[in-house]
Amino acid sequence: MKSLRDLPSIDELLRDERLAEEPHRPAVEAARRVLERAREEIQAGREPGSLADAVRAEIEAQRRPRLRRVLNATGVLIHTNLGRAPLSEAALARVVEVGSGYSNLEYDLDRGARGSRQDHLAPLLCRLTGAEAALVVNNNAAAVLLALAALAEGREVVVSRGELIEIGDGFRIPDVLASSGARLVEVGTTNRTRAADYERALSPETALLLRVHQSNFRVVGFSERPGLAELAEVARRHELPLVDDLGSGALVSVGDEPTPAESLRAGADLVTFSGDKLLGGPQAGVVVGRGDLVERLRRHPLQRALRADKLTLAALEGTLSIALDATTAEIPVLRMLHERLERVRERAERLASLIGGEVEETVAKVGGGALPLTELPSAACAVAEELAEPLRLGEPPVICLVRDGRTLLDCRTLTDEEIDEVAAAVHAAR
Ligand SMILES: *Cc1c(COP(=O)(O)O)cnc(C)c1O
Repeated sequence: MKSLRDLPSIDELLRDERLAEEPHRPAVEAARRVLERAREEIQAGREPGSLADAVRAEIEAQRRPRLRRVLNATGVLIHTNLGRAPLSEAALARVVEVGSGYSNLEYDLDRGARGSRQDHLAPLLCRLTGAEAALVVNNNAAAVLLALAALAEGREVVVSRGELIEIGDGFRIPDVLASSGARLVEVGTTNRTRAADYERALSPETALLLRVHQSNFRVVGFSERPGLAELAEVARRHELPLVDDLGSGALVSVGDEPTPAESLRAGADLVTFSGDKLLGGPQAGVVVGRGDLVERLRRHPLQRALRADKLTLAALEGTLSIALDATTAEIPVLRMLHERLERVRERAERLASLIGGEVEETVAKVGGGALPLTELPSAACAVAEELAEPLRLGEPPVICLVRDGRTLLDCRTLTDEEIDEVAAAVHAAR
């Protein structure tokens, strides 16, 4: 049994030949941590094991990136904690192309003069949504913030009480409104709001009407809210803009999610939506709509702070270029959403044949605040509950759900190739 006095100094430990190749600074830091842990082990009456091996493992761990790829076996397609939408090949190819060299990000090639980063995607977004103008910022929260700041700062914004939602991680519509400098005027009740409620709340201070997609919840039963066209009629009568925060923004209709094109046709003046929900692209916020309003957003000082980076724009352009193609299987989120259950079950069966375990019917979810009531029939391979933790801590980490004393590896959110990786991870974890 080792005692504290048997522990080497940092210098002595680093003289071990197994550490000869390691760079000095990281090795010293790792050795300090390993010796600290060894001291605790000894004091707790345990053997500390090989210190040199521990230092090597510590250096390895430090070298590993912290932001890492994981395998999503949860069956939640747009998993906010797991980076939302995986990118398509088309999007990734554009990121590599634009990111690995210089680009015309803010250069107008025709004129040979300074250009705007906002000019690249606007024509495509207008074509896809029927809008007059478009703008891209960092995420949809930024899009809403910018729209409110540019159009309603110091004035009133009318919102239904049924739409004062929290999207997650503390993003609450009333707080965003407050940060934009606009004042919230609530109308209606949680479950019922009528067009007349909006009309009654209007005053000379009103800057715009805001409609917010209910996103991650639904009010069912005794509930009512005006159709968008009806609300647009109120807005038009009073010459006020109607801003529609759609959240998900599926370009192709999915379930009961409204598309930006439908929203604009129904009379919304501006529509905002996310790039990495049902669109299946990078984190981004898109604003489409009336040219004069988009121009006010573009000229607002916050636009400079909230604008999207070139890699985002490249990935979004790549996503949009295939978004309206009927073969949506190229966009991972849409492929997972539409894949037939038989195909998912085939993967679960192959996984079960590789690792043992039972194939079980499960229910996958869209996630990301989209289609909260939609249950996607899915299939999982069920294995022992104790595997969940080692799978999460393995390489690559596999994230899964534990239910009824078993770990479920849902195959709707895993690709064919990932099945082999999960199988290897399960073998390593046992
Ligand atoms: C998700 C969502 C947002 C926030 O979008 P991010 O892209 O996550 O910033 C805003 N409004 C609604 C209705 C949403 O569903």
